[in-house]
Amino acid sequence: MKKPQKFRVGRSNTGLGLFATETIEKRELIVEYTGRRITNAKAVEIEWTRSNRYLFELNSKWTIDGSSRRNIARYANHSCKPNAEPDTVRGRMMYRALKRIRPGTEITIDYGEEYVELFFAKHGCKCAECV
Ligand SMILES: [Zn+2]
Repeated sequence: MKKPQKFRVGRSNTGLGLFATETIEKRELIVEYTGRRITNAKAVEIEWTRSNRYLFELNSKWTIDGSSRRNIARYANHSCKPNAEPDTVRGRMMYRALKRIRPGTEITIDYGEEYVELFFAKHGCKCAECV
């Protein structure tokens, strides 16, 4: 899928983030979460080390290791009230808009309870909803 990007990487209050540069319509696909495929069993091993926060479970067998910098989707930050969600489309992990996203708005995903427990345990969630 080669569509012109409607977002850019920019500064957010927690580091880098993805920001809409054009209006993104509700249900529109925004970006693919790309990376090497590893088995879910391997992903669980890595998760315990907390060394890689870019593992994304694709289905019952495969996880995507999205830690490569070429994976622009990795810059989308977590929010407890996100405006986009991951969606599997023909075996690929896509981020899809949950609502219309206006230019300049940060694109956010709910990474789920497991992620929040693993990576925000010490300092708590820093998303706009929580601070
Ligand atoms: Zn939060």
